[in-house]
Amino acid sequence: MSDISVYPVRAFQDNYVWTLRRGSLAAVVDPGDAKPVLAYLNTHKLQLTAILNTHHHADHVGGNAELLARFQVPVYGPYDDRIPTVSHRVREGDRFSLPEFDIEFEVFEIPAHTKSHIAFYGGGMLYCGDTLFACGCGRLFEGTPAQMHASLTKLAKLPAATRIYCGHEYTLSNIKFGKAVETGNAELARWEQAAGALRAKDQPTLPSTLAQEKLANPFLRCDQPEIIATASKHAGRPLNDPVSVLATLREWKNNF
Ligand SMILES: [Zn+2]
Repeated sequence: MSDISVYPVRAFQDNYVWTLRRGSLAAVVDPGDAKPVLAYLNTHKLQLTAILNTHHHADHVGGNAELLARFQVPVYGPYDDRIPTVSHRVREGDRFSLPEFDIEFEVFEIPAHTKSHIAFYGGGMLYCGDTLFACGCGRLFEGTPAQMHASLTKLAKLPAATRIYCGHEYTLSNIKFGKAVETGNAELARWEQAAGALRAKDQPTLPSTLAQEKLANPFLRCDQPEIIATASKHAGRPLNDPVSVLATLREWKNNF
């Protein structure tokens, strides 16, 4: 496992197709576009051995078919007919291994952004698609604030050192929102500087860590007094539970 490296292949505006490498082999997570993936595999003379999909959105699965035309590999993904190219459907608690990488992944169901969204956890890494972002969370397209809260709470139970590989580069704008929500959190200013320095060099701000998210991500901190107070003020009424706080933050962020 220690000899796996992970590269962010960029797609579209701000998607990352996380590419696991070991020797001359590769596996990709959420290949929304096959072209940059094929170019990367070509350049580095890599053979694709597996595809993982976290959810059905086109910017995460749109490249499956073209990759499968070149490489006959298993596709791990959720029970959702909207991704017909999935060959191995997986659900909560399932484990599967990628023998070429000597790694085992555990599957978590984390509905809210979409109803069948899943995450893959293995080797100290979490691939969580559009559910948990660095300093943020995904939009609620097919789920409720209660579901997002439950999904994030599930992920928050993983070890603090877990490396968080999200589907998009949203970190700086998320931190900006975080600062509006929790002005007294010094970690946000520190993170903004560090992330800004990386973006200035056109480097990814990811992976994050769960420890970092717990320090600064407002959507994981809906029980913090300052965040409850700010969200209540924004909502114009006292919010007494973390789900209402999350609901308020999510809607606020949509228009931020
Ligand atoms: Zn999505």
